[in-house]
Amino acid sequence: MVSPRYPRDLEQVVKFHGHFCGGILLGYRAVKVALERLGTRRAEDEEVVAVVENDSCAVDAVQVLAGCTFGKGNLIFRDYGKHVYTFALRPSGRAVRVSRKPGRHLTPEQVLSARVDELFWVDETTLKLPAPASIQESVTCERCGEPVMATRTRSRAGRTLCIPCASRGANREKRPPFRIPRHARHGAGA
Ligand SMILES: [Zn+2]
Ligand SMILES: [Zn+2]
Repeated sequence: MVSPRYPRDLEQVVKFHGHFCGGILLGYRAVKVALERLGTRRAEDEEVVAVVENDSCAVDAVQVLAGCTFGKGNLIFRDYGKHVYTFALRPSGRAVRVSRKPGRHLTPEQVLSARVDELFWVDETTLKLPAPASIQESVTCERCGEPVMATRTRSRAGRTLCIPCASRGANREKRPPFRIPRHARHGAGA
């Protein structure tokens, strides 16, 4: 449980993350300083893009407070094992890179009350941003029979396959051909 003297937005992060820990505190401080330097608020849509260089607890603070989420496609994960968080604005690419300084272990209270320059290097930078997420056409994998985004298929011996099938072969039976019921044909694509 978070003590009442902790900020309200931190409570939201704890609620989402499931427990209170040093990781979310570090993420909390990193997001706050980055959004402040960028002069922006939480992304409703995809106007802020985050590049995170680890997949620790801290990233959940990024999802909640910056609105950069896995599902919206404006959270980019690079598996570098570093406490580095870069936030960029669309469409300019103007960005702030927040990087954890080396140092002694801090208690949660110390992480919350520390000056920014005791925790992080904060640098202005520019990022080349990927195109906003778009709805992709889907095709059927010719081995497993499951629908797959057309841009994620591989061609093997003239057949169009999903990545798991292309790399090691499906280890489950092929799905039988599926006919979309008549009444559903004009609905939204799956
Ligand atoms: Zn945690
Ligand atoms: Zn497949």
